Amino acid sequence: MSEGHGIDRRDFMRGAAAAAFVGGAYAAVGDKGEEMVWQLDPNKCTQCGRCSTHCVLNPSAVKCMNQFNICGYCDLCFGYLQPGSRGRDTGAENELCPTAAIKRTYIEDPYYEYVIEEEKCIGCAKCVKACLVFGNASFYLQIRQDICINCNECSIAKACPSDSFKRVPKLQPYIYLTGDVSTTKSQPSSDPNPPQTTLGPRSENS
Ligand code: SF4
Ligand code: SF4
Ligand code: SF4
Repeated sequence: MSEGHGIDRRDFMRGAAAAAFVGGAYAAVGDKGEEMVWQLDPNKCTQCGRCSTHCVLNPSAVKCMNQFNICGYCDLCFGYLQPGSRGRDTGAENELCPTAAIKRTYIEDPYYEYVIEEEKCIGCAKCVKACLVFGNASFYLQIRQDICINCNECSIAKACPSDSFKRVPKLQPYIYLTGDVSTTKSQPSSDPNPPQTTLGPRSENS
């Protein structure tokens, strides 16, 4: 079977599985009677890539996020650039992300801000792995609760080699990379659809 047929079949299977949930998400209940949802622990994740290929949704409900209080705002960002790319040669052909989902914005010399455009992200974890190995490890994966249909059994959880998935309370559906919420500027909170807050480009007057 050709690669194309394989992908077609995978997409079909995903679509069929997703269709099975039409009519309402499964509502799991925790020990205290609270509603629970699926989430992955970024501290356990080994960036295997299955979050991109095993979600019933296509693209996956798993997206990359950047924790800005850890990020070095590096010009030579290993999560953004292909290995061997030159620091200031940031043409599209040099981007590590297969879907160009990372937006690079100049802040001030020599700092750049990296924001994930989640509608483009497929959760492949390539940037997460590169930033972990060569950078500050500020990129990490999370299930976006505004996209996930909260399957009875998360199909990524079944495929995950590092046992990263668990159910968490719906009112606190994201797992912070450092656990330090008070110093975290960019993290999702109990808000199920939080904005990513960043430093942003410097204004003319600053
Ligand atoms: S490299 Fe993969 S995980 Fe990172 S932003 Fe691009 S699609 Fe998302
Ligand atoms: S529960 Fe898992 S498989 Fe189902 S939509 Fe959410 S992330 Fe995807
Ligand atoms: S399946 Fe598990 S180890 Fe693989 S990328 Fe997803 S969370 Fe990480």
